[in-house]
Amino acid sequence: MADKAQRLWHPFADMSRIPGHELVLARGEGCWLWDDVGRRYLDVTAGLWFANVGHGRAEIADAAAAQLRSLAAYSIFDRYANEPALALADRLAAIAPIEDAAVFFTSGGSDSVDTAAKMARRYWQLRGHTERTVIVARTNAYHGMHGFGTALAGIPGNAAGWGQIMPDVLHVPHDDHTALAAVFAQHGTKIAAVIGEPVIAAGGVYPPVEGYWKQVRALCDEYDTLLIADEVVTGYGRLGSWFASDLFEIRPDLVTTAKGLTSGYLPLGAVLVGPRVRDELWSAGAGMFRHGYTYSGHAAACAAALSNLDILEHEDLAAQVRRLTPVLAAELDSLRGLPAVREVRHVGLLGAVQLAQPEQTDTLVARLRERGMLLRGLVGHSIQISPPFVITETELRKFAAVLAEELTELG
Ligand code: PLP
Repeated sequence: MADKAQRLWHPFADMSRIPGHELVLARGEGCWLWDDVGRRYLDVTAGLWFANVGHGRAEIADAAAAQLRSLAAYSIFDRYANEPALALADRLAAIAPIEDAAVFFTSGGSDSVDTAAKMARRYWQLRGHTERTVIVARTNAYHGMHGFGTALAGIPGNAAGWGQIMPDVLHVPHDDHTALAAVFAQHGTKIAAVIGEPVIAAGGVYPPVEGYWKQVRALCDEYDTLLIADEVVTGYGRLGSWFASDLFEIRPDLVTTAKGLTSGYLPLGAVLVGPRVRDELWSAGAGMFRHGYTYSGHAAACAAALSNLDILEHEDLAAQVRRLTPVLAAELDSLRGLPAVREVRHVGLLGAVQLAQPEQTDTLVARLRERGMLLRGLVGHSIQISPPFVITETELRKFAAVLAEELTELG
């Protein structure tokens, strides 16, 4: 008979190593967290890259609670709606990196990816190009864990172990648009869409090489293919602009988002859809788009998102990210040359340190935790650095100093 701890099956865990050894978090405020015995930790990753406005925001809790009391949720299928969903769709269209976008709500990032993939494929089916079913993804990519997302995964461990999920996927190296050009030259007429994270996140934090996204957009235009930007991590300010697509100056056809939309206060995702796909899927004769989720447009989640966007705007947290960007860059760059460090990568308030000896990653994470700093390893060789936008320069520098000490200690 399992004991109490063993009842909870943790995602992305080797359960043979977990029972009885959990870190139970009880409270959060700003970029700080407290566990169940009162120990305090700096949240260096904003949870799973979501707590952008910081923890413990009473405004968001109050907005969600007020909505929960009046109408927590109903369906927005067919012609039903609720006020927060309507207001949030308007607001997202106003900031979207696409002119004249429509907004399709989901329950999270994996939902958003599968929704965008189905929209892209449906678009070509409606246009009579039934052969256009292939989606091109990139090495090191993470696109969530639903069916499409798992098939699109460029992190080998995440794609493997299930048998084949979807055959119509091609992978290209994430940093080489000429490889994409070659794939287009060979398979162009079968390609429905290219999907990519503007900055690869869970796969190790890889910013794009200079000019990469403009080249990809140009190739998509040349072969008349759709471009899906997976901005689940980069959306809503992580790089100091509303979207990474703004920073890299591209106009995707579809943008998948989640996480920073509510800063994680309630689960919510949104796909921002440009006129090309929307007009085809909304045209008379296209029929019903047979896709949606019970909690699409969840009223309380949308109210939380509206409050979260208020905070981002009123406190101009994108400007705070832009102020902290050179601080993080300088601190991480100064780690180059330490024997324990193989590479550092960063853009915006997003960074990773890759270790020379990958097996030291868990040790480093454990030591930093002992020193009151919570972060995690990525793909077995790097550590993730993506603090809440409200971290102060002093806190960021303090973290970097402790990190440098521990890396030096690793030798
Ligand atoms: N897409 C990207 C780029 C992500 O980083 C993630 C999650 O980390 C997802 C999709 C999936 O999001 P969720 O875990 O909310 O389903």
